Amino acid sequence: MVRKDFPYLTVAILVLLGISSCKPKLNVAASKVKPNIIVILIDDAGYADFGFMGSKDLQTPEIDKLANSGVVFTDAHTSSTVCSPSRAGLITGRYQQRFGFECNGTGDSLGLDVTEITMAAALKNKGYKTVGIGKWHLGDKEQYLPNNRGFDEFYGFLSGARNYFPNPQNDKPGNLSALMHNQKQINFEGYLTDVLGDAAVNYIDQYKKEPFFMYLSFNAVHTPLQAKKEDLDKFKGHPRQMLAAMTWSLDENVGKVMKKLEAENLLENTIVFFLSDNGGANNNQSTVFPLKGWKGNEFEGGHRVPFAVSWKGHLQAGVKSNKLVSSLDIYATALAVADTKNPNNKPIDGKSLVPFNAIDKLANTHKTLFWRKDEAAATRIGDYKLIRLKNEQSVLYNLKSDIGEKTDLSKAEPEKFQEMEKALSNWENKMVNPLWIEEPDWTKITFDIHKALMNNQKPKKVQP
Ligand code: CA
Repeated sequence: MVRKDFPYLTVAILVLLGISSCKPKLNVAASKVKPNIIVILIDDAGYADFGFMGSKDLQTPEIDKLANSGVVFTDAHTSSTVCSPSRAGLITGRYQQRFGFECNGTGDSLGLDVTEITMAAALKNKGYKTVGIGKWHLGDKEQYLPNNRGFDEFYGFLSGARNYFPNPQNDKPGNLSALMHNQKQINFEGYLTDVLGDAAVNYIDQYKKEPFFMYLSFNAVHTPLQAKKEDLDKFKGHPRQMLAAMTWSLDENVGKVMKKLEAENLLENTIVFFLSDNGGANNNQSTVFPLKGWKGNEFEGGHRVPFAVSWKGHLQAGVKSNKLVSSLDIYATALAVADTKNPNNKPIDGKSLVPFNAIDKLANTHKTLFWRKDEAAATRIGDYKLIRLKNEQSVLYNLKSDIGEKTDLSKAEPEKFQEMEKALSNWENKMVNPLWIEEPDWTKITFDIHKALMNNQKPKKVQP
């Protein structure tokens, strides 16, 4: 075998030597130039709950430093108001309604359509090392597991939420909330946010010599509300003590990641996205002021999120942009910075945020965005926002003068109203029906919340 292969091997070596002797710098540069890509996705955090978003009572010095080292988008939106479909949109760069992943799952067998190509798969195909850390929530059957969706490594849990400390229920063998390393269940000690932050640092160490993609999906600050004693002590007497303590730990761990990049001299070669997967939840002490609504509904509080992008030396620091952007744009931006093309022939709904050197002149951002979760839908065109609820009269707002979505303009501006309704239904024609919907009690409560908020009333109940 050796003798037979020898000539081919020799030719291959000579070719390689030939290339490297002609263009040694190009080869080195080619492997170095591809920037690392890190997406820090947090869970259920409020629009106003970070220093860089104006919070006065929660302390986030490390996240603020990240945000202030790059561009903060104040009009940024996720493609869904709840965890699971939001992740499906982000990781494919496509409206998740294109493949029926419109609602949170209600059963074990549901997951991200296997014909969809994740950001991890696209980047792996381009030579990236890929790692997913933390909450997955995109399916737990074999075909949906992170290792089968483009991730070389997975260190996290498959379900949508879990306890932050080791827990006999969550950590039972085979439980979907148990911590996994790839497909093997593992035990952990301490506080999960620290464990995920440490894992991120270790993977940066492991992958620092090659281009890598890291999807760092903290479950903080999703319920259950649990924090370390020392962090609770730090915020003793705080009116939002639990959230303040959980956010502090999250901040420390984001800081760990950024400090590791700095220590390894990787900041100039790593683009970092930071965002929440949906608006602040009504059960985790979060605030979305001055927005209306919360996680699960189509008002701004449900899908407008804190969103920052940092890339030292490539992005101007300290920029605030009010351009309309989406979590869907991360995929398109990642493909652009990795210099690769859309790996399939399916349409991508996100837009690349590059070139970054002209961030204020971005011609590329969205003029329209759309949302739909079962009976409630919304669209944004310019400053206008329309919210539609099944069998109810839709409402129209002008966000420029009415960010709190209080004054319905549907009667006052009938032409705009018609235009928005038509745009929404045109978009829906390109989507498919949801493959599953939420449980009946959630469907009803979600309808009632929308109806009350559309009438500027307080919902009678916010949970089943
Ligand atoms: Ca969430």
